[in-house]
Amino acid sequence: MIGLVVVSHSRALAEAAVGLASEMVEAADRPQIAVAAGLDETTFGTDASAVAEAIWSLDAPDGVLVLLDLGSAVLSAEMALEFLEPEVAERVVVSSAPIVEGLVAAVVLASTGAPIEAVADEARRGLEAKQDHLDAGSSTTTGEQVSPAVTADVVATDAGTDAQPDPSAEVQPGGTETQPDASADIHVSNAHGLHARPAARLVGLVRSFDAAVTLTNLDTGRGPVDAASLSKVATLNARHGDRLRVEAIGPAAQDAVDSVRALAERAFDDDGERPVTSAGGANRSASAAGVEEGTGADASPRDISPSADVGTDPDTRSAGADARRSGSGLDIAMGPAVVAEVDLDTSGYERGSTEDEIARCREALSVAAASIERIRDSVRASVGAAEAEIFDAQLAMLSDPSLTEAVELAIRAGASAPEACTRCLQDLAHEFESLDDAYQRERAQDVRSVLRRQVGALLGRPDVEASTQGGAGILVVPELDAATAAVLDPTAILGVVTRAGGATGHGVIVAKSRGVPVFTDAGDVVRDVAPGTVLAFDASSRRLVVNPEEAEQREFAAAIEGRSQERTAALAHADEPASTLDGCRIVVAANVTSVDDALEAVRQGAEGSGLVRTEILFGHDSSRPTVEQQTEAFLAVAAALGGQPMTIRTWDVGGDKPLRFLPQAVEANPFLGERGLRLFRRQPDVLREQLQAVCLAARETPTKVMFPMVTTTEEVGWALEQLRLAAATATGGVPSGLEVGIMIEVPAAALRAGRLTDRLDFVSIGTNDLTSYTTAAERGNAAVSALADSLEPAVLQLIGHVCDSVADRVNVAVCGDLASNSAVAALLVGLGVRELSAVAPAVPSVKAAIRRIDLTAARHLATGSVAATNADHVRSLLAANA
Ligand code: PEP
Ligand code: MG
Repeated sequence: MIGLVVVSHSRALAEAAVGLASEMVEAADRPQIAVAAGLDETTFGTDASAVAEAIWSLDAPDGVLVLLDLGSAVLSAEMALEFLEPEVAERVVVSSAPIVEGLVAAVVLASTGAPIEAVADEARRGLEAKQDHLDAGSSTTTGEQVSPAVTADVVATDAGTDAQPDPSAEVQPGGTETQPDASADIHVSNAHGLHARPAARLVGLVRSFDAAVTLTNLDTGRGPVDAASLSKVATLNARHGDRLRVEAIGPAAQDAVDSVRALAERAFDDDGERPVTSAGGANRSASAAGVEEGTGADASPRDISPSADVGTDPDTRSAGADARRSGSGLDIAMGPAVVAEVDLDTSGYERGSTEDEIARCREALSVAAASIERIRDSVRASVGAAEAEIFDAQLAMLSDPSLTEAVELAIRAGASAPEACTRCLQDLAHEFESLDDAYQRERAQDVRSVLRRQVGALLGRPDVEASTQGGAGILVVPELDAATAAVLDPTAILGVVTRAGGATGHGVIVAKSRGVPVFTDAGDVVRDVAPGTVLAFDASSRRLVVNPEEAEQREFAAAIEGRSQERTAALAHADEPASTLDGCRIVVAANVTSVDDALEAVRQGAEGSGLVRTEILFGHDSSRPTVEQQTEAFLAVAAALGGQPMTIRTWDVGGDKPLRFLPQAVEANPFLGERGLRLFRRQPDVLREQLQAVCLAARETPTKVMFPMVTTTEEVGWALEQLRLAAATATGGVPSGLEVGIMIEVPAAALRAGRLTDRLDFVSIGTNDLTSYTTAAERGNAAVSALADSLEPAVLQLIGHVCDSVADRVNVAVCGDLASNSAVAALLVGLGVRELSAVAPAVPSVKAAIRRIDLTAARHLATGSVAATNADHVRSLLAANA
């Protein structure tokens, strides 16, 4: 016999309907009926997990027919099917029948043992008798249309019973179809929408009220969703500018709505901090303190950016970390594997009873929560409250009732605890991955971080934190999230190997900034590597050896020793200028993103900054910095550089670089879209404000300005006109000492450099993007990372072409990652480059390399490299030249 489930917003209504229908047949013949109705005895609402539980509770091998009232009941029933094991779900039919008549018809026919198809059909036709009678009667007796009043009466009389499920109700505001006790419309002003941290604050607030609160995104039509569930709030896809309807039912409904409105008006308390106001001030110095103490600096994605200086070259860590790090700081490492990954394969796991699995899950949850709390507290103490909040968001995920319910349901439906956690958290990660905003999409990594901790605890596998405490080794992980990277002990972890993920992920950036070498995207090579297996890698040459032979081990050990000796020697002469053996002076500057970076650059002997990444300098600000704030920040960087020249790059936003106060439309191909200078054609005032600050700074200190992502001469002309206009306002004309240049990152600009530079003082080649655009391989995409190789001869040919076309008139610098690789210095100088801007820790070794160059040999090397067959061929030429 089949079973029946009644889904309604009202428990009283559902139970009454069941009582009525049950009267129709003898108790002995009656099918099993379960109810999933109301949020509790008196609160209206429907809940997918309750529906799934009701279905699961029936012992009905012939199938389950679900009857429901309206609106979100439909949504809940459909979602419930996703929670069930496929074998169970396929035996369920969700009926569009009217709930009372349908239920009566279904109970009667089901009691005869009829198959589910017949019962469903009978239920669907449950209204026919009444329709035949009333509709036919009204038109034949009066010959008139049924008046709206009569229609309304009929519906009102049968409220919640006769209405067909109204699909439009799914996208209408309102968590229930009953009148809410309080409601308000709010506005999402946060640049990245309602991402994890603001959403976690909202959820926390809602949970503190005795009210059922729902949210509906009025712009996307998503919702209503339970505002007490972080995972549900994430599905709203609430972006900057979206309007949300908040509705609440319950004793504290009004207070809840008022508080949510007030929180929204405060941008969900997600104000950015000003990272730099004076030398050594604010955010960046706080990060530095964390690195020094090894307590998890730069844990927050707010402190790091995919565009920060992380390359595959020796010493390419985020500037500023080197003096405070305790890791090797090299891009080479060797040691036993520390396998801390949580394999999603749970085949070795022994499933207990359902109740055991639920209990284990709860236990694992508290273990994971305790571990995240430890990290959060440590980050809060050493870095700052704002940075620690990303871990609050992870904790909110763990305590999300809808997530725990979904996990428990999956267990009841037959899954083991690790399978249930994995499935539910992966679903949540996919939810994030499908969102429009790039920043919000990145939060999927936080979900996977939570997943690894919880499933790790279930499988009895220590989390990374614990497994790195046993002794020195090379950590092998599926991917490196920021939370894990933040707690790595750099004295124990000699290096990290990731199975997947490109070199620019947050975790990679954090690890490298802490002096830990990382080899990314190793794939299956390390899939089954046993703990203790010796691993050796050199990230600069992309060489990874599992179980190296003795000779290879000796080779690696010698290379590690050699590089650290070189590094020590280079540091001893870091303050001296660098000239080739035959007297050609090469300027070695540093890329900076903060005052701390600038201070560190000077400590490492940098001759000013060849690239101030302003989008990172102000990357934490939630509102656009004023001209005064920008001027102050630029002067603080200049002061930290000791009055040496600084090269301010105007906002370089787009692609992989979001800026909180400049949200961008979703683009199909963001790397080919409104990036860099292009973005400001539609909002020139934003660029002009920055240029005013540049002019004001230039009056006080040696300053250069350059424009990113330039393609055509027309763009150069437009940029210069913006500078002229800004200067007229700020300083009554372009300050005499201000040097003006562009970045060469687009092949078209490289090919036409001669024409583009007519009115310029310098160019700086951005080899990261130039490589990406020359090879058509996105720089952060691990799948094509082998193609995005800056030593590809085509890239070198373009650099050579730029030098040949303009070096006699304007200064040619390189500020991409290639400049941080001391092994490539001779090649770049041979091509004609006369200034290198590297990450600060690489400055001493780049200078040392220059001092070994003979210009004639360098030109020979350059000619050979451009003519080489591929990047590996170039690498072999570099090795022969070393
Ligand atoms: C580059 O593209 O090489 C560069 C220096 O700019 P960014 O890495 O900031 O895009
Ligand atoms: Mg670039």
